Amino acid sequence: VTRLVVIGGSDAGVSACLQAREVDPAVEATMVLADDYPNYSICGLPMFLGGEVTDWHSLAHRTREELAAAGIEVRTKTRALAVDPRARTVRTAGPEGEADMPYDRLVIATGAEPVRPPIPGIDHEGVFLLHSVDDALAIDAFLATRAPERAIIVGAGYIGCEMADALTRRGLAVTLMEQAPAVLPTVDPQLGGILGERMGRQGVEVLAGVRVEAIERTRLRLRVQAAGGLRRTADMVLVVAGVRPVTDLARGLGLELGVRGAIRVGRGMQTPVPNVWAAGDCVETWHRLLRRPTYLPLGTTAHKQGRIAGENALGGGRVYEGTLGTQVVKVFDTVVGRTGLSEAEARLEGWDAVTAELTTWDHKVYYPGAQALHIRIVADRASGLLLGGQILGRQPSEVAKRVDVLAVALHHAMSVDAVSDLDLSYTPPLSSPWDPVQMATQAWRGRFPATP
Ligand SMILES: Cc1cc2nc3c(=O)[nH]c(=O)nc-3n(C[C@H](O)[C@H](O)[C@H](O)COP(=O)(O)OP(=O)(O)OC[C@H]3O[C@@H](n4cnc5c(N)ncnc54)[C@H](O)[C@@H]3O)c2cc1C
Repeated sequence: VTRLVVIGGSDAGVSACLQAREVDPAVEATMVLADDYPNYSICGLPMFLGGEVTDWHSLAHRTREELAAAGIEVRTKTRALAVDPRARTVRTAGPEGEADMPYDRLVIATGAEPVRPPIPGIDHEGVFLLHSVDDALAIDAFLATRAPERAIIVGAGYIGCEMADALTRRGLAVTLMEQAPAVLPTVDPQLGGILGERMGRQGVEVLAGVRVEAIERTRLRLRVQAAGGLRRTADMVLVVAGVRPVTDLARGLGLELGVRGAIRVGRGMQTPVPNVWAAGDCVETWHRLLRRPTYLPLGTTAHKQGRIAGENALGGGRVYEGTLGTQVVKVFDTVVGRTGLSEAEARLEGWDAVTAELTTWDHKVYYPGAQALHIRIVADRASGLLLGGQILGRQPSEVAKRVDVLAVALHHAMSVDAVSDLDLSYTPPLSSPWDPVQMATQAWRGRFPATP
């Protein structure tokens, strides 16, 4: 019987165990995790903190009973301290003390931890980071017991934007500070600007182009100092400035670290150490368009990579087909999604990338409730090869579905013209005979005609 040990109990680790059990129902799969929250959807933490999800326990993708029923032995509050690849053991420290756990195959899925930017005062009471369930419970307890009135969020990436929404729902006055010229810097400032304006209409004070320099404690509150003398006071500060991979075990194994310090793995998620695979937020991510590794830590990617690691650890030959950076976020009733490269990113790679933006209705305007969609299409001028797309719209406008259409087109290296050939669905309340994404690729072609 093969003994599979997986270190990490979140998206990548659980996916590895499940797939391994699928491939070989006899495998002994043990998952060790440092915290007490196996298989929790940390993506749902902002929705819990905003009160839309009332019970945090419901964020578990699977209960412990379901994991046990799937044949996975789960060891919570158990930290892996070191791996001995010759003896094939993992040194663990858990509720019963230290032990050496033998393995035949090992998957490292230690994930990421939030970046703690070197801002003086970041350790003050009332300053929070958000990555784990424990982080969220600490914020929730603070909200419940201290009844803060004002919050400052430092960082307007997707989590910062989701949290501005969440804390507004909880009744706080929120200031959102972002160094980039607009919120949500993963999309172009044209769309980030629209999102920022809409957040402003919901009562969020959006301060973009602002570099935070210090957090100070006044007698009763926290004061955030930014460059140029800008300052705001609040009862709590949330710093959400991205994540970095957790790689201490990998470093102990002598594994090479690549982009942003993430573990370098092959396309089959294998490491150079025999019998050791790695997946999820702790590893580099193969980019399908760039044809090289990047670091794009997302739940979607962690699930896929974990599944491949689990299968390959049992002798499979799966290859990770690559990420496109597809992502979507809902902030109040606005949804913003992207896939592929922005024009700026594509130009850095040598493409003659050009963008066309189209604003059109999400469905036939004669049917009630039509909403504007803002669609930006990036493609290579000479070949018309689709390189990326970004969409902003209201929640009922199926932004995510439409981004996903572009993601499929990108995955298959389609041209903007080929998008018009796709047989997409239509009924007046939901779309138009040409879906808005097709209208947008046609608008791109209209602006950049093919040269005969
Ligand atoms: C607030 C928030 C919102 C998000 N929203 C989205 C979203 O909408 N869409 C999306 O695609 N992604 C989203 N993400 C990202 C997504 O959650 C992560 O990409 C995903 O959880 C990564 O999974 P993972 O298994 O690689 O690592 P992690 O979730 O980081 O889990 C790591 C695991 O390893 C364990 N561990 C670490 N070190 C050790 C050790 N030495 N010994 C034992 N155990 C160890 C930890 O306890 C944990 O169980 C969000 C993230 C956050 C924080």
